Amino acid sequence: MNNRDAKCLVPACERKVYARGLCANHRSQAAGMVIRGVASEEDLMRRGLLLRPKYAETRKRDVAAIFMEGSDVEGSGVEPPEA
Ligand SMILES: [Zn+2]
Repeated sequence: MNNRDAKCLVPACERKVYARGLCANHRSQAAGMVIRGVASEEDLMRRGLLLRPKYAETRKRDVAAIFMEGSDVEGSGVEPPEA
């Protein structure tokens, strides 16, 4: 489903998907409408004009956890000086 040649969800738009199922133009247009409060992501998703984010509930601290997971670095992560 993550087809590199997938087309924008907006009818008649032939541009390639940039993010969330929309081309770069329509993605920024949708984001602008959400910011201005004239649309909501939930409403756009319900109407099939926006896809759910891949990592729907990922927040910054979760991203940090992803980076830390399985890390060999201990403590502060600062390399100790050569002995
Ligand atoms: Zn588009």
